[in-house]
Amino acid sequence: MHEYSLAQSLLLGLQEYLQKNSLPGRVVKVHVQKGELLTLSEWALKEAWRILTEETELSGSELVLESVPVRVRCPSCGYEGQARYLVEEGWHISIPVLSCPRCGSPVEIVSGKELAIVGLSIEETPTPA
Ligand SMILES: [Zn+2]
Repeated sequence: MHEYSLAQSLLLGLQEYLQKNSLPGRVVKVHVQKGELLTLSEWALKEAWRILTEETELSGSELVLESVPVRVRCPSCGYEGQARYLVEEGWHISIPVLSCPRCGSPVEIVSGKELAIVGLSIEETPTPA
């Protein structure tokens, strides 16, 4: 299961971070950026996260996914930025068309397949009075 191993690598990275940095409270939300070319089931990823964090300090935390657009680079004209998009009628999803919006040449993908933790929401532990 693809989502399970993705969740596992996110968790390992985060646990490593938590070992080096002490946080003022409990992690309640983990903000993750997902490249648009990375196909995964958001539900399966969240479910894998829930299972994997069960016996850890991150138990009860929630993954918040944000989709980031594909970035491309054009070897012909030097364009760098978002890919051209076509919205397929009736599908309600946008499909990145990987051609240069400036000159139409084939482009190289700079980013769009990554999954990265970009932020944490912390619930401060109340200090005992
Ligand atoms: Zn170009």
